[in-house]
Amino acid sequence: MIRGLLPLPIAKDLDVPEPTSCCRALGTAGAYCHSCDLLLGLEGLHVTAVDRGEDLLTVTVESTPGPVGCPACGVVAESLGRRTVRLVDAPCFTTPVVLLWRKRRYRCREDACAMVTFTEQEPDLVRPRGLLTTRAARWAITQIRREHASVQGTARQLGVRWRTVWSAIKPILAAAAEDETRFAGVSTLGVDEHVWHHVSTKAPEEGGRGPKELTGMVDLTADENGQDAPMVCQALPGRACARGVGRGLGRRSA
Ligand SMILES: [Zn+2]
Ligand SMILES: [Zn+2]
Repeated sequence: MIRGLLPLPIAKDLDVPEPTSCCRALGTAGAYCHSCDLLLGLEGLHVTAVDRGEDLLTVTVESTPGPVGCPACGVVAESLGRRTVRLVDAPCFTTPVVLLWRKRRYRCREDACAMVTFTEQEPDLVRPRGLLTTRAARWAITQIRREHASVQGTARQLGVRWRTVWSAIKPILAAAAEDETRFAGVSTLGVDEHVWHHVSTKAPEEGGRGPKELTGMVDLTADENGQDAPMVCQALPGRACARGVGRGLGRRSA
């Protein structure tokens, strides 16, 4: 050893015969990488490739192969290979993410069955014919509800158009608006009036942004640490005082 230089700490590791990459599955037919799957975090799907472009992370995924029964008759189906479906997922490491889902296709072997061919469905991954994953849609809603993000702002972060985000989150928001349990546990309710845009009042589907004035009902119930965690429970078109809601109050215990 040359005096004054420390021994190389990695010298011992160089003798290790095992590959040091996380992707030990590479080159092993039928194997997947547990670490990459864990990083992806989508139940039942495995990473088969990752590509990082300048402004986009592309992750190719597939489900585990195995016998699949026809959804109509239950007879074990014949594989017809796969078709790649492009989905937009939630951003990762500050980068928009695209999933290339190698969706499996099948043919029913039962001649009398009306279900000639069918494709794999992952209802937890994406709604039928959706462009955004369910995870991306819920991420966008959280950004809008908790972080004061706009639909346009979330669309920019996802790398998609405004309309793509809106069509993905609208059915989820509509279902949530029907769910009265969102008021469960609310002990402090805030009323907040907003003029939230100065553009067209046409409906979003017609290119506008709807009513200019909105009244937000905000859950101001303190969390277990005594901190406010404001979250919008409901947004009503128009101003609160015009509707007789929470007149003159910014905050009131329910
Ligand atoms: Zn890996
Ligand atoms: Zn069948």
